[in-house]
Amino acid sequence: MKLGILGGGQLARMLALAAYPLGIHTECFDSNPKACASEVTNLRVAEFTDEAALSEFLAEVDCVTFETENIPLSCAEFILKTKPLYPSTKALEVTQDRLYEKYFLKSLDLPTPEFLSVKTEAELIQAVSNLGLPAVLKTRRFGYDGKGQYMIRTPDDISKSWVHLQTQPLILEEFISFKTELSLITARNKNGETCFYPLVQNYHMKGILRSSEAPFNHAELVLEAQKYAIKILDALQYVGVLTIEFFYDGKNLIINEVAPRVHNSGHWTIEGAYTSQFENHLRAIYNLPLGSTEAIGYSYLLNCISEMLPINACLQVPGTHFHMYGKEPQPNRKLGHITLVDTNAERYQNSKKILSGMIST
Ligand code: AMP
Repeated sequence: MKLGILGGGQLARMLALAAYPLGIHTECFDSNPKACASEVTNLRVAEFTDEAALSEFLAEVDCVTFETENIPLSCAEFILKTKPLYPSTKALEVTQDRLYEKYFLKSLDLPTPEFLSVKTEAELIQAVSNLGLPAVLKTRRFGYDGKGQYMIRTPDDISKSWVHLQTQPLILEEFISFKTELSLITARNKNGETCFYPLVQNYHMKGILRSSEAPFNHAELVLEAQKYAIKILDALQYVGVLTIEFFYDGKNLIINEVAPRVHNSGHWTIEGAYTSQFENHLRAIYNLPLGSTEAIGYSYLLNCISEMLPINACLQVPGTHFHMYGKEPQPNRKLGHITLVDTNAERYQNSKKILSGMIST
């Protein structure tokens, strides 16, 4: 078995590492020659639009997946002429554009923040007057880790946000005053076998995931989130891992985003669940039985952003695991993560306190 992975960042790297024990070889495809998956697997360096390079890549692999939703649809269609691609092109199409994603969720009767499409400054002013303030202006495409978005708090921010983002198609979203953010990671194989990880509670800083904790135990919310997931999986004829990010306002779950891939908020599953999200993604696309998603204990995931935490100090904390992605440090770049897993609640809380004390806020 040889799997082609579009994208060669840390998600591809962790997929490649999970593939080895299953006897699955991997090859990544990325335009960045320094893509960090290259430390652990083959990397082919070319643009997603380079059909000659894609053809050579396809000759090497039996199946293709992706670590990012920012794949041109023309690339997905080209691949499908010769090799299977999982998840579906429809999943790519819907999730790579925030506006299409919201229309899609609405068509399934699923809750999202109110939103309006914005193409001109006049439309922005109108949209703000319809949705009220605060509101969040976002690029429809290519936004990640808080990039491509602007929080509009006061009328003065309207023109500032426009200057900042005007070159791209935009969407204005109602601001959700959430109590917390949650995510659900789910996997489905080609037979339709479906599994769900426990709900994860997420903490963002400046739009970037800082830390996650699992399991978030709330029986009703778990059922609600799973019900929403099944609708999405069915509608997208989905195969692979799918992640849904939610706002929870204390009463309802509201879907923020859907990611057709393994997700940062699921990195704790490497040590904190019986089967990691990476392994279950591979099992799903090769139509193998899915593994248990049960949590082993309490898990805390801490992202290393802009700089790594010192390995020695981290590993002195009981139950801690260290992951470095091999990337060059840059401001606001995710360079690695730390996962704490413990079955003892008291010790877990102590260790979590020590680890969270190591980061500058
Ligand atoms: P996103 O890239 O859309 O996932 O946004 C990154 C983070 O910004 C989210 O996880 C939230 O913390 C915050 N955010 C984005 N959209 C909204 C919204 N409509 N209301 C409140 N907070 C938001």
